[in-house]
Amino acid sequence: MTVRVRFAPSPTGYLHIGGARTCLYNFLFAKSQGGTLILRVEDTDLDRSSRQFEQAQREDLAWLGITFDEGPEIGGHVGPYRQSERHKIYEEVATQLIANGHAFYCFCREEVLERKKAAALAQNLNPAYDGTCYGLTAEEVQDRLAKGEEGVVRFKVPDKSYILHDLVRHEVVFPAGMVGDFVLLRSNKMPTYNFCCVVDDIKMKITHVIRGEDHLNNTLRQLMIYDALGATPPQFAHASLLIGKDRQKLSKRHGATSVAQYREDGYLPEALLNYLCLLGWSHPAEKDVFTMSEIIPLFGIDRFSKSSPIYDLEKLAYINNQHMRLLSVEELASRYSAFTTTHSMFLESPTDWKHRFLNLFKEKAQTLKDFEMYGTQLLSLELESGEEVDQILAMPTTKSIAQFLVDVLTPVVATIPFVTEAQVGAWMDAMKNTLGVKGKPLFLGGRLALTGQPHGPDLKILSSLTPSKILLERAKKLLQKLNS
Ligand code: GLU
Repeated sequence: MTVRVRFAPSPTGYLHIGGARTCLYNFLFAKSQGGTLILRVEDTDLDRSSRQFEQAQREDLAWLGITFDEGPEIGGHVGPYRQSERHKIYEEVATQLIANGHAFYCFCREEVLERKKAAALAQNLNPAYDGTCYGLTAEEVQDRLAKGEEGVVRFKVPDKSYILHDLVRHEVVFPAGMVGDFVLLRSNKMPTYNFCCVVDDIKMKITHVIRGEDHLNNTLRQLMIYDALGATPPQFAHASLLIGKDRQKLSKRHGATSVAQYREDGYLPEALLNYLCLLGWSHPAEKDVFTMSEIIPLFGIDRFSKSSPIYDLEKLAYINNQHMRLLSVEELASRYSAFTTTHSMFLESPTDWKHRFLNLFKEKAQTLKDFEMYGTQLLSLELESGEEVDQILAMPTTKSIAQFLVDVLTPVVATIPFVTEAQVGAWMDAMKNTLGVKGKPLFLGGRLALTGQPHGPDLKILSSLTPSKILLERAKKLLQKLNS
């Protein structure tokens, strides 16, 4: 059997991280099985769907590096791949279901149905559809439709239980009576999700449906439709739902929920995929940092977890940092150049400066955006405040260090835009020898004078990346403070 899976987003908003995870699982499963991944656009909700959202979702998927074998823009032998373009197919199947007695035309008005439902609930009775339109003959239906009456096509739910053999949740039993007769075609002939999903999964020869657990109730309705059509359902795998640290359903409160936002925030696509993959699947060797090509041969639904994975931004940041460090500095420079629009010093600097800057900060940077922050700090003239800074200010040697640095920097700034690491090293040695300062007072005082901060990465490299004018300004500023 050749595996055929699909990702079936509704283009009613931006690509959600939960959707991206579903898509990723389908992608990895298809790749691991030598199968086919289909993109099917579920755009039958005409009021909420838009081509802009479809396009935006496709761009996000492309950014993530997920590619499809069949889809609206790619084509394929079972298209069209937008549900809004498949009306005829749904109508044909609905007609077939009516002819076989599995569906019927219903002219009950919404407000009447609501009233009946409320009355049934008030008496503790089953609020399901009461069968008012069961007995209508084909002629009566034609007559009422011809007169312009609005009717829907409803599925006649059989009185029996269903068992789902889910690849993740194993046996799920749906007892009879859980749902009432549901709508297949609305009065405007638009099909409902459950109906077109089944029709398309059959026509598109889908072998496995991998999706979120929130669809389990839909699966019951879908099993009924497969049954009525005499079709074998695909194998289902319902992945557990993502939840926040507070164990509530994932929402904006837990961090950004759209893929586009993570891209804007400077996450690498491979890191986001890596993290999303771990939310519900585990690596056989318990690794948590990996590439997609590395895990394709290892991927399987048997490693899906049944419990809800907790969405943890700190873990995502850790994984992103790991992936940035895995990149060659040339590659990191090219990603960051494509990302930043505000870090003009980086964009305008020679390659060597770029590489040294990235190498210095990549250990700590969690996102590409963090490099912008380090870039801003590099030019800042602000002297940090706080207890540690006060302690350095109180050291009697700090003033002579600041004075020394002002003296050595003043003559060079006009001709040397950047000092070298060796120069900074030589100044430190000279201060030790001529001022007699050493150890902590020397390193802390020197750092505060040159960077305005009590902590930071390697002082010599950091100073060599900072314009010499800035170094001088900082040393002067510190001196002024100590003199005032
Ligand atoms: N359009 C549905 C959704 O976005 C697809 C669900 C499915 O995979 O069947 O949730």
